[in-house]
Amino acid sequence: MKAKYDVIILGAGHNGLVAAAYLARAGLSVLLLEKNDYIGGATTSQKVFPDYDARLSRYSYLVSLFPERIIRDLGLNLELRRRAIASFTPYVMNGPHNGLLLSNVSEEMSRQSMFELTGNQTEYEQMKKFYNLSRVFAERVWDTMLEPLLPKEEFRRRFNVDEVSREAWRSLAEEPLGRVIERYLQNDLLRGLVLTDAKVGIFTYPHDPSLVQNRCFLYHLIGNKTGEWKVPVGGMGAVASELELAARKSGAEMLTNVDLRALNVNGTKRSVEFEIDEKRQTVEARYLLVNFGRNILAKFVGKLYQPNTADEGSVFKINMLLRRLPKLKAARYPAAEAFCGTFHSDEGYEQMNVSYDQAREGRLPNKTPCEVYCHTLTDDSILAPELRSQGFHTMTLFESSRRRNSSKASISGCKSRSKIVLPSHAMGVSASKAKARSTSRMPSECIMATFFRTRRRGRS
Ligand SMILES: Cc1cc2nc3c(=O)[nH]c(=O)nc-3n(C[C@H](O)[C@H](O)[C@H](O)COP(=O)(O)OP(=O)(O)OC[C@H]3O[C@@H](n4cnc5c(N)ncnc54)[C@H](O)[C@@H]3O)c2cc1C
Repeated sequence: MKAKYDVIILGAGHNGLVAAAYLARAGLSVLLLEKNDYIGGATTSQKVFPDYDARLSRYSYLVSLFPERIIRDLGLNLELRRRAIASFTPYVMNGPHNGLLLSNVSEEMSRQSMFELTGNQTEYEQMKKFYNLSRVFAERVWDTMLEPLLPKEEFRRRFNVDEVSREAWRSLAEEPLGRVIERYLQNDLLRGLVLTDAKVGIFTYPHDPSLVQNRCFLYHLIGNKTGEWKVPVGGMGAVASELELAARKSGAEMLTNVDLRALNVNGTKRSVEFEIDEKRQTVEARYLLVNFGRNILAKFVGKLYQPNTADEGSVFKINMLLRRLPKLKAARYPAAEAFCGTFHSDEGYEQMNVSYDQAREGRLPNKTPCEVYCHTLTDDSILAPELRSQGFHTMTLFESSRRRNSSKASISGCKSRSKIVLPSHAMGVSASKAKARSTSRMPSECIMATFFRTRRRGRS
């Protein structure tokens, strides 16, 4: 370690790693300081169940917004695999259990499944028209993501070229998303399916005048102009490892287990004080890049952090290792199809409005909208060969429709109505600290689960 660097980056999440790789390649001296004992932040794979050799994507798990240009520029050796199934949504109609299966590879399969749900062909066409708006939006904004943010007026001007583009801008950037959803789609389940992308991680509803739901929706739909969410082969840790490698190859230095003590940013010199291996260090830099939330930064620069209420939201995630996949009540669908994409549970449009209202009143929603996803159906390389041969799978349950101190989640559409009741004493702890003992009524297939909940951080 030197006494002075061109750039010190605080926090080695994937954004810090990308910055480190580019800056080091540009010939600058770079030091990355990370408080964890591993590199990657929320982009990480961990062996969360010590007795089982499975490396789970502990926090983030699918890739869409990572620009292909960065992968090319940095020469990353990454395989991002398409999921054959986009989503499965179980429903009950006039008695029998059924499911809406939307395929990433067969339009006919999706069309037929939509017909069974709605009884007409119109809704499918309407859905295509709706998603065409986000496609047009993505086409026009994606390439700007690696440039300084343009003023809103400039974006509006760029969309003012034809009727579809103008509608895309108006519907997705200027009006609450609920309007366009309700204008295009009639079926409640479909409306809900669309809305889920607008709610992940934030506390909002379709007609929220703040438009945070629109922002969230667009981030989920514009990635690399397709909005497709792909499975990182090897798990999220593979993304972080490749970035780390690229940064190190270019000369960036990294320290983990760093206990940050002070940031000096007011004078002419910038410096960072920290402890590592019980030794106090002070290192100077021409530039400091901060890769953690404003809430943390505020502590080091002596400012009071005031969160924006529009940023409120919490995500609740349970990582599971299963001996076998759950069986479906809609028995004609193999579990391997239903859980290959995003499995939606209790995410009807009205249901989500009700759960939002209940949570806003400080109550636990009667039905908890949530999503389930199985990594190993698309990429089983995260399991050791013996787990693979025994048919093990990983599963992630994701829920974001609650405020605080609520602690119940359940999955509809599966046999044995897999109710998972989590005691509130375990809430808000990190996955590694949460113990499987706390899951009092786990589904029989599930041998292990870790979970965590996080509040959205103060980020611009
Ligand atoms: C449950 C969950 C699921 C998600 N799923 C997805 C997904 O599937 N796909 C997706 O694209 N995105 C997903 N996200 C969002 C994604 O994880 C984040 O956008 C991304 O990780 C942000 O990366 P970052 O580098 O900016 O920050 P982080 O990954 O948060 O990195 C910040 C780093 O700063 C370090 N740090 C904090 N304090 C200090 C300190 N005092 N000193 C030194 N270092 C410090 C942290 O330890 C961490 O390593 C998910 C997020 C969550 C919470």
